[in-house]
Formats: sequence, C-alpha cells, structure tokens
Amino acid sequence: MTRLRRQLLRRNTRHQTNGTQKRTEPVYKDPREIQLMREAGRIVARVHMAMKESVRPGISTLELDAIALDILRRHNANSSFYGYNGFPANICASINDELVHGIPNAKRILKEGDIISIDIGSYYRGFVGDSGWTYAVGGISADAQRVMDVTEASLWAGIAQAVPGNQVRDISRAIQQHVESHHMYIVKEYTGHGVGRDMHEAPQVLNYVSGDADSSLVLRPGLVLAVEPMVQLGTDKTRTLKDNWTVISKDHSLSAHFEHTIAITNQGPEILTLL
Ligand code: MG
Ligand code: MG
Repeated sequence: MTRLRRQLLRRNTRHQTNGTQKRTEPVYKDPREIQLMREAGRIVARVHMAMKESVRPGISTLELDAIALDILRRHNANSSFYGYNGFPANICASINDELVHGIPNAKRILKEGDIISIDIGSYYRGFVGDSGWTYAVGGISADAQRVMDVTEASLWAGIAQAVPGNQVRDISRAIQQHVESHHMYIVKEYTGHGVGRDMHEAPQVLNYVSGDADSSLVLRPGLVLAVEPMVQLGTDKTRTLKDNWTVISKDHSLSAHFEHTIAITNQGPEILTLL
C-alpha cells in the first residue's frame, strides 16, 4: 500500500518518462475562469503572509498548518493538498534538507537558523491556487541564504519567460541556467505543472531543458502554470522518508522551493498567487 501511495503521488508530480502513462492536453481558461483562479491565488497569498508572520523559533509545523487552514476556511476555501493521494495535512512544511512534501507535526519545532519551505494549495469555487515559499527562521547561515536567494531568483527568471509565443522550455532553460550558474542542483524528479480545476494538469514544466513533448508547447493566453524550481546545495539526488511523503536531499544538504501560479496573458505573465 505504501508503495502504491508513492506511485500515485509520483504519477502527478514526477517527470513522466514512461510512455504508457496517459498524457492529457492543456486546459485553456476563459476570463471568468482566470478570475476565479485569481481569487484562489489571492487566498494562497494571504496564507503565505500569515506564514511569514508566524514562522519563528518555537512554533511547530502543525501550528502553522492550523493557522493556514483557518485562513483558507475564512475565505471559503479548502486545502487542495488534504487527502490528495492520501496526504494527511493542509500544507507541506519541509525543513532544511527536506525539499518538499514534509508533513506538519506537533513535534517538529522550528529553531533559530532553520529554513522552512511551505507549500500551500487552495481549492476555491472549483479552482486551485498553488504557491510555495522558503522562509528563514531567525538568523540563518550564508549557505541557507544563498540557496534561498538563488532558488527565488530562478523562479523570477523562469516567470519572465512565460510570455505568449515562447515555449515551455524557455521557462525551464531560464531556471536551469540561473541555478547552475551558481553551482547548485536542480532536482529533476519533481516538476512544475499546469493548474486549474485539477492541481496537476498538462503541461509538465520542467526545471531543466529536456526533449520531453511538453517542452515544445507554445505558450498562449489562457494557459495557467505553476512554476516551481526545487534546488539543493550539494546534489540532485533525493530520498523519500519512511512516511512515504517527505522528500529530502540524499546528502542532507539544504534545499529550497519557490513557486507561483501564473497566467499567460498578452500583457505577459500575471502572477495569480500574489495580493
Ligand atoms: Mg505547490
Ligand atoms: Mg505545484
């Protein structure tokens, strides 16, 4: 069962190298749907504001989860993560060498010098907003600051390429070039994705250049993407913990994850997960 659960998870978030897997077509959103996604995205942004204010030494990741759920509910939204392939919490909270999919826990208490990646998905009036951010807990090391800065900058570099006429691979290339020019490592097993009524829609948005079919998709208005570089300081290899969710860097080096949901528009990328 545990292996199945992992396979189910990876069906949606891993780089699909298996040609037998079903490939779906991108879903283009009309203006009314984009407006709903804007609202779903703004709710995620509000939760992130609260996370930024709440992250401090002494707070547990389960307390952060409760704060997030409270804000989602107050905006008539739910967590799009809870129950997804059996995920048992409302946010993902991943500390230091944990890259993604960390499960909030009352015993995981933040301490000075940690970094924590918090991934939040809202489900609001039939649509998903998806955004992740890595936060510093008090004063952090130069290495921790560096992996955060490089990963965030690679997100912005990728988003800058999200304009009509470009291909998905232009986003991927910009992310990869920025990260690798700083001698850090892209994790290739997990990717960005289309987002809409489903949390994971076509196309995959890789964080590196590849010959996969989705990379050649030409961006056009109505496409909504979650762009999300996942970066580690010392290796591109990961390991999944026995909880079958938490992904860590294999060498325990620090990891960061930054993600926005963006809509492709004729005026350029519109970031939906901002206030
Ligand atoms: Mg996310
Ligand atoms: Mg995502």
